[in-house]
Amino acid sequence: MPEIRALSSSLVNKIAAGEVIERPASVVKELLENAVDAGATRIDVTVEQGGSQLIRISDNGCGIAADQLALAVTSHATSKIRSADDLFRIGTLGFRGEALASIAEVSQFRLVSRETDATAGAELEVNAGEMEPAVPCGCPVGTVIEARNLFFNTPVRRKFMRTTQTEMGHVSEAFSRIALAHPDIHFSLQHNQRSLFDLPATKDWQGRIATLFGREVADSLIWVAGDDGPVRLRGFVANPSLSRGNNRMQYLFLNGRFIRDRSLAHALGEAYRGLLMTGRHSVVFLRLEVEPETVDVNVHPTKLEVRFQDSGQVYRQLLSTLRARFLSTDLTARADSVNDSGGDVMPATDTREPHHAARQREQLVEWARRPPTADSPTYGPPAEPAKEQASLGLEFSRAHASFPSSDERAAVDVPRSHESGPQPSGEPPPPVGVTTAGCPALQVHNRYLITETDEGVVVIDQHALHERILYEELREKMEAGELETQSLLVPEPVRLTPAEAAAVLDATELFHELGIDVAPFGGDTVLVSSYPAMLANIRPDELLKQLVEKLTSTGQSPDRRDLLDELLHMISCKAAIKAGDRLSREEISALIERRGLVQDSHHCPHGRPTALVFTREELDRRFKRI
Ligand code: ADP
Ligand code: MG
Repeated sequence: MPEIRALSSSLVNKIAAGEVIERPASVVKELLENAVDAGATRIDVTVEQGGSQLIRISDNGCGIAADQLALAVTSHATSKIRSADDLFRIGTLGFRGEALASIAEVSQFRLVSRETDATAGAELEVNAGEMEPAVPCGCPVGTVIEARNLFFNTPVRRKFMRTTQTEMGHVSEAFSRIALAHPDIHFSLQHNQRSLFDLPATKDWQGRIATLFGREVADSLIWVAGDDGPVRLRGFVANPSLSRGNNRMQYLFLNGRFIRDRSLAHALGEAYRGLLMTGRHSVVFLRLEVEPETVDVNVHPTKLEVRFQDSGQVYRQLLSTLRARFLSTDLTARADSVNDSGGDVMPATDTREPHHAARQREQLVEWARRPPTADSPTYGPPAEPAKEQASLGLEFSRAHASFPSSDERAAVDVPRSHESGPQPSGEPPPPVGVTTAGCPALQVHNRYLITETDEGVVVIDQHALHERILYEELREKMEAGELETQSLLVPEPVRLTPAEAAAVLDATELFHELGIDVAPFGGDTVLVSSYPAMLANIRPDELLKQLVEKLTSTGQSPDRRDLLDELLHMISCKAAIKAGDRLSREEISALIERRGLVQDSHHCPHGRPTALVFTREELDRRFKRI
């Protein structure tokens, strides 16, 4: 029988560090939280080489007594809770007492601190968990903590670190979250001797948002407040004319803590239903205050997720507050002045808008909008890829026209006004679906396009055709090696079944070739740190599950091509216009125009027909002409 042994405290700390300290940004988060908990009014962060070389955080908080320094870096030692009951009335950001111990275990660690009333401070060094005795030193009131050479003694972890730029992206994100949650504190962030942010304390939250994310974001915000339920809700939501291809700009703060919550994210999706295109996500900054005993914050290693006592009520309150606000807001007013081209000023972060459905559709419209020239009487694709432009209004026109009165997006069927551009004089706003001059097809039931060819009448399934077009385009891109990979600002943990997790981890190499980086995260959870940019509007869990299905269904390992093909199908299906989407004349033109460009326009990638032809002969026969 194998012998059972108690693990050494050093090993226990290393294991704990694996959960809490995943990368430099986790150190920054934990140390910032400690400084906030210490009541600091000023916190300065200094980082070298994305945090892999140095992370230093200094604060002017309450400090730590000299004789307590050693305890502070001991695991499960905390000043923040005393009894199990305290766990259900957490008023601080930390409470587990394991952050400092974990960080000190995997770095060269230095802690210098002086309590408010103390005449001198003290200093303590820990090298990979080996603690030196504390020694007195002169220093200002407050605390300075330094972690150098993170993971130098855990080479595997060190290997998991990404480029300086990627790690710095995560650090700025961790910094921004805390700086957003605490506008009353002066924060600064410096990287490689360069100042990235200096944020004086302010009462103007929108101002702080502007400094972190840019004017364009801040200017599009709508104030919301709601007290009609268990939550005191305050904050801003962006006008739908500003959106993102993922939900990373949805900042929710619960009792001063940044959280991710699937149910609340869903509520946001519902609130914006009909206002944003498929695949687009709202931008929000919302603070939720609840009684501490109505929420369990002890359910996630980094406290990113929480459990509400009554999540249904919170969900409903958020949704109804936003809906009520939207109904009383004129969302059209800004449509002409705002565009959707970024506004993210987070430094060292990949801010390119990912390729997503919206961009693809915008391009579609752009192509269609090119005026016919003498030698090309019809609309055609430009020789150069469409350039970034002020948004062409698909989203805007949604905001103009379709305010959802019910939950059913499909039922949102308000005739929309013409695109935001100038209208030809004398021409009434064309009700969509009516063939006017230049429109090569009639849209019926918001799902079929009817057009005429020499042969007869063609009925086209708009979704199936668009899907086919996108598929062909993507395949071409992929064959040219242009599938772009995008690193996630915050790697996404995806929980799978044990079999799925094993299959994914076995195929790490293959996934990497597809631009998807996965790593084990403990248990049946895998961490997705990058994936193809074009998949930005597909949730990582959805993506992995679908690919795993392919991996495991055949019984033998599928080759790269099969998986790539699967990816392309997914992208094109997700990005294509849907049945139920009302199309503008330009969109119809573009679709019909490009129909001829695809190799197989008769079938969507799933094999369903994209079009049915009723020959003239058949029609003549049916009408008993022949
Ligand atoms: P936790 O925050 O969960 O209590 P940590 O390991 O992060 O655990 O910190 C351990 C203890 O060290 C804290 O409870 C706190 O008393 C003290 N401490 C850590 N950082 C600071 C700081 N910047 N200022 C004052 N005290 C601190
Ligand atoms: Mg802490």
